[in-house]
Amino acid sequence: MEQKNIFKKASRRQVLGGLSIGVVAAQTVPVFAQQTSTPVNEQVTPKQETPNQSVKQNPVKQYPTPPFSQQPQEPPGLASKMTPRPDHGETSYQGSGRLVGRKALVTGGDSGIGRAAAIAFAREGADVAINYLPAEEPDAREVIQLIRAAGRKAVAIPGDIRNENFCNQLVESAVRELGGLDILVNNAGKQHSVNSILDLTTEQFDSTFKTNVYAMFWITKAAVPHLSPGASIINTSSVQAYDPSENLLDYAQTKSAQVAFTKSLAKQLAKKGIRVNAIAPGPYWTPLQVSGGQPQSKVEKFGGDSPMGRPGQPAELAPIYVLLASQESSYATGQVYGAAGGSGNP
Ligand code: NAD
Ligand code: MG
Repeated sequence: MEQKNIFKKASRRQVLGGLSIGVVAAQTVPVFAQQTSTPVNEQVTPKQETPNQSVKQNPVKQYPTPPFSQQPQEPPGLASKMTPRPDHGETSYQGSGRLVGRKALVTGGDSGIGRAAAIAFAREGADVAINYLPAEEPDAREVIQLIRAAGRKAVAIPGDIRNENFCNQLVESAVRELGGLDILVNNAGKQHSVNSILDLTTEQFDSTFKTNVYAMFWITKAAVPHLSPGASIINTSSVQAYDPSENLLDYAQTKSAQVAFTKSLAKQLAKKGIRVNAIAPGPYWTPLQVSGGQPQSKVEKFGGDSPMGRPGQPAELAPIYVLLASQESSYATGQVYGAAGGSGNP
């Protein structure tokens, strides 16, 4: 269908070139200069007043609103193939030294919410390892480039986290390459819409739980021995934990499990000085949603029924991940941070 917002598709070269400019701009020039000298911003998010989060503006108009075009992709999908391209903070996130010297592992760090966290962590001074599926290498390459452009160490560790051995290797590789671990973000997730319990296969149920619940357990279990006081674990749950949709029966259960995991583990690890929190996003414009997470008919209207009238962009979550990772949230553990654009829980 025709899009209300005319989106001028940038070539990969233009986007990457623009991103590189954006990284430098974010660190060295004042905000007003970015607005006039970074045309790629308009290509990424045409409806926005400006993506810069330090400028006062109407949040309703800051990013694209539905209708969106139908755009099916095979899971896990690529952010680089989405229209409009999600904003992960590439040209807008400005760090202020809040994570200097920290070492972070972000699963699903190639795209969407994990990518926004990875970019923000690097610009706040952290070295970052990302995990993703091999099919997502094109998205991952962009993130690696952005972390390096921020002057930080970037480590790419592709692999399938549904396998316990790989989860152990993932943590060992991250610790070895980064020289330790301070921040773990369990963010990778599988979401596949199925309308009826009668059509929900054991295979899908198993795969969703392996990705969203077992992997979080395996990765965290492998990471804890490497964490010292001041470390932070952040799990990406969902509004689905509190307000489950009828077409996400398996997925919603995993998101509830993540909340219970977070609250229980927070109690275990508080005495070690390790904090554990979760974030519960509402609708965000990411590959997960267009590659089977929602039926295409819902992709067209995605985020339209939230009070903001639009989906969130991953960049809008980055400051929450930074807050929970940093020492500033030293009394926050076992908490769930809602970020659903005006509805949902907690
Ligand atoms: P995304 O597609 O950008 O990220 C999901 C990532 O999960 C993928 O990039 C992929 O690397 C990873 N992944 C999936 N299966 C994997 C496997 N078997 N092995 C290794 N990695 C695997 O989409 P996103 O929306 O940014 O998703 C990130 C998290 O946010 C997920 O946990 C999702 O449940 C959660 N979430 C998303 C929304 C939303 O509206 N987008 C809302 C609430 C919660
Ligand atoms: Mg991805």
